Amino acid sequence: MLASIEALITAALYLATYLSFVRLLRHPRNWYLPTLPSFLATVGLAIITVAQVSLSSQGLDLPAMIVSAGFIAGLFSVIAAPAVVFPPGGPRPAAEFLAKHGEYAGLWMIPLAVVAGYAIPDAKLYGLLVAAMTIELTWFLRHRRTGERQSYLLGDQDLLVLKAQAKGDIERFAKQHGIPELDLSDDGVVWRGCGKKTLPCPFNLYTNRLGLNTAPCCRAHMKDLSYFVSSCLREMEAVHWLEGGSLLGAVRENGNLLAWEDDVDLSVMLDNRTTWDSLAKGLADRGRRDGYYVDPFENKGFIAISYDPPGRWPFCWERNRMRGEIRLDLVVYRNAVSHGLSVLERRIPKGAMPLTENGYFGVPREVVLPTSTVHFLGDDFACPNQPNAYLHILYGDFEEIELTFVDTAAAETRRLADAAETVLKT
Ligand SMILES: [Zn+2]
Repeated sequence: MLASIEALITAALYLATYLSFVRLLRHPRNWYLPTLPSFLATVGLAIITVAQVSLSSQGLDLPAMIVSAGFIAGLFSVIAAPAVVFPPGGPRPAAEFLAKHGEYAGLWMIPLAVVAGYAIPDAKLYGLLVAAMTIELTWFLRHRRTGERQSYLLGDQDLLVLKAQAKGDIERFAKQHGIPELDLSDDGVVWRGCGKKTLPCPFNLYTNRLGLNTAPCCRAHMKDLSYFVSSCLREMEAVHWLEGGSLLGAVRENGNLLAWEDDVDLSVMLDNRTTWDSLAKGLADRGRRDGYYVDPFENKGFIAISYDPPGRWPFCWERNRMRGEIRLDLVVYRNAVSHGLSVLERRIPKGAMPLTENGYFGVPREVVLPTSTVHFLGDDFACPNQPNAYLHILYGDFEEIELTFVDTAAAETRRLADAAETVLKT
């Protein structure tokens, strides 16, 4: 009896550690190191869990301590892999391999759990192992049963880029890089698209690492997400404008997304009417109502809004295990004065936006306000007053196509494919 209570306590402690850990993964997913409090909370819970397994009235059980700590460290490395490879960076083969199999890689720990349980027959260790493997199995099964994927035919340009990157052999390419969304039927190349109920395509990896175009499903969802956020901001009467790559698409690509776009960028002005709290709350309420996940990062001054629906607390944090994400970054600006000039200032860098006196990043106020409108994804969106000057501040000569974040070799192939397409068109 006592043993089963001890096992239950250990299972509950593991669950708390796991939830704290998947919550912490929101930081690397957004290209940041975890904050100290979230890091300390997770480490603290992990230490308590290991202590619960290995400490008893007889003292410390060293083998149980080593096995439980090793098991948690191994499993958490698997769980973290998709978030770790989220920010663009050099090749990280081990993490990328684990991420590619992230929907079920946790289950690979089952044999280890069996061996550990066999070697150390201890109720508390069983509690830990069973809890961990049950969570992994639930994570796997939940995505097995998710909604149908809808088929999209790839457009000419998407197909041209895909063929170029695959060096003609799409089947081998899809297998080599693990692109289960690609379906090569007799009718041609079909993309089995993501939806609200499926896991999102990990298209950021496909665009950045493999130099492909954004998947057609993800493009459609980005449009939906842009309409949602801009309508919220209009409803809240918040001054806002298209930002970064999205503004570039609107201006340079005739109102379309960049072909390899991996997120949508909007910015918003904080003032007497729109405060951080009113903005975050207004968006969270509307996100809950309409089915979008809203994640505010107050100290960085941005709110990540994603296409996937908000799950139930606390399991909503498990979304940080997803390999892909369709998201919009809403960055806040505040009025400031820098070197005697009136500027709008943000906390996180963007393109080549210059530093302000306060150590943040800013643009001259009159370049942005009063906002104007530009055609984007089939509708009118608010944009900076001088969109070209704004883009010039961010990207210099923005008419020049620059494949930021795309892997060097993939970028080169893509450039050749894009050039071939231009020749075909003319
Ligand atoms: Zn998709």
